Amino acid sequence: MYYDKLIFEISTEGRKGYTLPTPEIKRYDLPETLLRDDCPGLPEVSELDVVRHYTNVSFKNFGIEKGFYPLGSCTMKYNPKINQDMSNLPGFTSIHPYQPIETMQGLLHVYYETQRMLSEISGLDTFTLNSYAGAHGELVGLMIMKAYHESRGDFKRKKVIVPDSAHGTNPASATVAGLESVEVKSNKDGTVNVNDLKAVLDDEVAGIMLTNPNTAGIFEKDILTIAKLVHDAGGLLYYDGANLNPLLGIARPGDMGFDIMHINLHKTFSTPHGGGGPGSGPVGVNKKLVKFLPKPVIEKHEEGYTIDYDGDALTIGQISHFYGNAGVYLKAYTYLLTIGKENLPNVARYSTLNANYIKESLKDVYHLPIEGVCKHEFVFDGLKDKSTGVKTLDIAKRLLDFDMHPPTVYFPLTFKEAIMIEPPENESKQTIDRFIDVMRSIAKEAIENPEKVKGAPYNTVVKRLDEALAARNPIVKYKDLLEQ
Ligand SMILES: *Cc1c(COP(=O)(O)O)cnc(C)c1O
Repeated sequence: MYYDKLIFEISTEGRKGYTLPTPEIKRYDLPETLLRDDCPGLPEVSELDVVRHYTNVSFKNFGIEKGFYPLGSCTMKYNPKINQDMSNLPGFTSIHPYQPIETMQGLLHVYYETQRMLSEISGLDTFTLNSYAGAHGELVGLMIMKAYHESRGDFKRKKVIVPDSAHGTNPASATVAGLESVEVKSNKDGTVNVNDLKAVLDDEVAGIMLTNPNTAGIFEKDILTIAKLVHDAGGLLYYDGANLNPLLGIARPGDMGFDIMHINLHKTFSTPHGGGGPGSGPVGVNKKLVKFLPKPVIEKHEEGYTIDYDGDALTIGQISHFYGNAGVYLKAYTYLLTIGKENLPNVARYSTLNANYIKESLKDVYHLPIEGVCKHEFVFDGLKDKSTGVKTLDIAKRLLDFDMHPPTVYFPLTFKEAIMIEPPENESKQTIDRFIDVMRSIAKEAIENPEKVKGAPYNTVVKRLDEALAARNPIVKYKDLLEQ
């Protein structure tokens, strides 16, 4: 029922009759001397061989459709096929940005509605879907922050406070935006140390970048105090909303006092993720910052949607070609309608339940540095038994032998042997129980046969790689690989 309605809505809106101009086809007459006598004799491969080749290549890879993928701070969530089906509707795939506005009302409707739903979920006034990734969203958000201070003639505000537990993109984005990041040390559980924060707040602070719950999965209980302190000092609050699972339908960054945020559609809203894109990192702002949003801006009027290519006089300008990655927000829109408003809190509840279930089931064998209830993810600090010599990297490699992707390792930097586990909401209890069993068996093996764990993986296409060399001297050409 629900799907029928959705398909109908998208297809009729998206297809509203239009014709693209037929391109003019030019014919060239080549001189005789350049013409071939025979067919070019290109190598040929049968369809079957091509299919086998790609199927085999896909088996060598690991993806969410192959096995459990509990990569902390990454929300590796299944991408339902209906998302793909909807974004593949011809009415969307054949749209050209320069075609008349009245012929793309369906797509603009999706843009506008996605933006509106994100506002409702986050408590921020307006969103733009123009930015292409989380880090891109951060840059856009910080450019807005900078433009806000400059519009008030306050040019000395250049400092952005970033806790040491933050994602690496945060300080990087601050630098790219022409601001300067100032690191503050976190408490042991990754929460902000309010006294340390007070010490760095002055009239040069542009704002603070935070994520709540933090990377260790702990909710910042002092968030209202922090928001007041930063606002009183004249700064703004930026929310890194890459991983929004634990908040959906339960709590809103806007209500916590945040002024700007980005969201990763390719994490929380089940659009494909990895391999460098395509992604989408919508940016939301509260009322006083709407005029700084990038252009173009999609607007809704009684007679339909329009695109304002000029934006407000104070806009930070254009940050993407046209209006973002349409294929991505079409998928996120589908996901949101499929889940439905009334079910949205279940995403938060199940992801939180899954994380706590794993944490409690393994904490007798893995070292849990932060006791208590976590949100959507949590951190172990290596094995509890430190005498085995088995490191976090060995455990990660051993997991591959059981067809499971390792969790995030050695991040956050606050724990030496960090293993950061994030199970999304849509994993079954069977899958989670199997992960727990495998993690327990590795812990046991580390005591009984540590060398075995240190030599892993055994069942993968390539064995243990020299990761430093692989990062510094990547071999990306097939020919170079053959010469190896
Ligand atoms: C993934 C992530 C980002 C960056 O998002 P990209 O789309 O990879 O640029 C930023 N912050 C946090 C907390 C993240 O998990």
